[in-house]
Amino acid sequence: MLQPNIVCDKIYDIDPTVLEQMGIKALALDIDNTLTLHDSQEVPEKVRLFLDEMKQRGMGLFLVSNNSFERVKPYADGLGLAFVCKAAKPLTFGLKRACAKFNLDKKEIMLVGDQLFTDILAAKFFGCPCTLVTPFQIEHQKFLRFKRVLEKPILRAIHRRKDGVTHV
Ligand SMILES: [Mg+2]
Repeated sequence: MLQPNIVCDKIYDIDPTVLEQMGIKALALDIDNTLTLHDSQEVPEKVRLFLDEMKQRGMGLFLVSNNSFERVKPYADGLGLAFVCKAAKPLTFGLKRACAKFNLDKKEIMLVGDQLFTDILAAKFFGCPCTLVTPFQIEHQKFLRFKRVLEKPILRAIHRRKDGVTHV
């Protein structure tokens, strides 16, 4: 049920031709541990290059983060992207907003995130394709660590499965 369409290490490992084959026209991006370290304002060079290439290919980009306005706004401004903060994923209103912005069907937008129970579950509830990336770092907050423990057996199954998933 929590099976992502694409499983890769970092966001920049996503093959743009695979996205095109899937008919993806926009990416709804998680920020923390997907684009950068948790709570960091830095945009790693490879991430910037990937986002630039996506823009050049005409891919819509939109940030959907569960983090606060204070964390998300400067990051979004730095990238020149629209955003939803406090998205409360696995709730789906952030994804709905992203679809509305680009006037797309839910099958044409792909969520990219690092957490099964927020990002991937939100995509499943909403009905859009999704990519699971490996987090930049393991968090130290107790609650996040607890979630990671729960993710483990499912992650193992995801990484074992070969049919219907693009592993990069
Ligand atoms: Mg994240």
